[in-house]
Amino acid sequence: MCGVTGVYAPGRDAARLAFFALYALQHRGQESAGIAAADATTLRWHKAMGLLGAIFDEEILSGLSGHIAVGHTRYSTSGSSIVVNAQPLLERSDLGDFAFAHNGNLTNTEEMRAALSPTVTLDAESDSEVLAKLLVEDQGPLIERIRRLLVRARGAYSVVLCTQDELYAFRDPWGVRPLGLGAFDDGGWIVASESCALGTVGARFVREIEPGEIVRIGADGIESDRAVVEEKRPALCMFEYIYFARPDSELNGRAIYMARYAMGEALAREHPVEADVVIAVPDSAVPAGIGFSAEAGLPYIEGLIKNRYIGRTFISPDQQMRSRGVQLKFNPLIENLRGRRVVVVDDSIVRGTTTPRIVSLLREAGAKEVHLRISSPPILHPCYLGVDMATYDELIAANLTIEEIRKHTGADSLGYLSLDALIAATGRRRDEMCLGCLTGSYPSVPAGHRPRKTAVSTS
Ligand code: 5GP
Ligand code: MG
Repeated sequence: MCGVTGVYAPGRDAARLAFFALYALQHRGQESAGIAAADATTLRWHKAMGLLGAIFDEEILSGLSGHIAVGHTRYSTSGSSIVVNAQPLLERSDLGDFAFAHNGNLTNTEEMRAALSPTVTLDAESDSEVLAKLLVEDQGPLIERIRRLLVRARGAYSVVLCTQDELYAFRDPWGVRPLGLGAFDDGGWIVASESCALGTVGARFVREIEPGEIVRIGADGIESDRAVVEEKRPALCMFEYIYFARPDSELNGRAIYMARYAMGEALAREHPVEADVVIAVPDSAVPAGIGFSAEAGLPYIEGLIKNRYIGRTFISPDQQMRSRGVQLKFNPLIENLRGRRVVVVDDSIVRGTTTPRIVSLLREAGAKEVHLRISSPPILHPCYLGVDMATYDELIAANLTIEEIRKHTGADSLGYLSLDALIAATGRRRDEMCLGCLTGSYPSVPAGHRPRKTAVSTS
């Protein structure tokens, strides 16, 4: 995953705007973050491991002067939690320095790496760096280099890039990862992974950046380029709708909240159950839980309180905490659960490690029955395009039947949303989405492509 943003705002402090935009995108990645800013002559940057608020302070932000900025917040993938992988990547080229921020995963990294001259040294060994280095090694104006990149690179890449005096944003021809364009009323532009970041900085959503589109913003204004890319089947990631995007973002004219609410309504129709109350696993399943409750005519209450400050902790609980199954993240509301038949709505089951703990937490709190309802179909296949679920081994639904999963979770019943209902809830057509993790068919992945999870998967 990852969150990216780019700002071009004459007369304004672009790094500060990028900081607050990234703050709104923090859910897309908590491992590292960075901002690069340009003032037409100099490019400066700061990046480090950790959360935005811990990385940047007033002094650091004040040092990042200029009206152009790009920012990145990075999603954790195993084995790659090191600062060389933090972005934006800073590159020297014959065209001057540029800063490069990428969300997504390439599926032909090896082929692209082979296209680099042997003298190129890669610091981060990530697919993002291969993309950036291909731009460095190419010739001609930057826009032409990006056009050639769009023809060569397969997979998912929403990229924001700034030179000393221009901002570029481009999206892979399939449009796997989101990227939107916003405008400030007093002039200036912002690009961000999700529309929720625009409101945060006082910009208004203009439109999605289209699959295969390059947007260039400079002193002479904004320009869109869609010249080189042949029409591809659009393939926006379904997991953005299921889990990843914030509920107050909109994708293709549909608020994520409303899509998830509709998923919950459909789930109640497909898997009705006699129960007393409906709860959701916070935060991502709350809209679906409320939709389920409305459709089922059952009260929606809070059953689990989430500690919102946990984030990614690198301190592991001691053995006693672990063996008691203590959830660091959730506490049950005993008064709301005791003696009740509880429907618990969650958005997905991926590995099947946290779900059994949630079910037992509810039982320990006195729930009489626990009926698990999942507002997505079973996740049957790995993702090669940027979501951290990379192998069949780790996916519970790829290895167990639904009844076996129910037993594993300890729930009294289990129901998953159907694929058709999920698609209907998004308001999109089936052939406009990437449904790879649900169906095994990946629009932007060459047939037979089965990359293994690598130590360094980027963004
Ligand atoms: P599981 O039972 O598969 O271990 O966990 C299911 C839970 O993981 C659900 O609550 C779902 O919201 C959450 N989840 C799904 N995808 C991700 C992800 O990429 N990162 C994190 N931290 N949680 C996820
Ligand atoms: Mg969750």
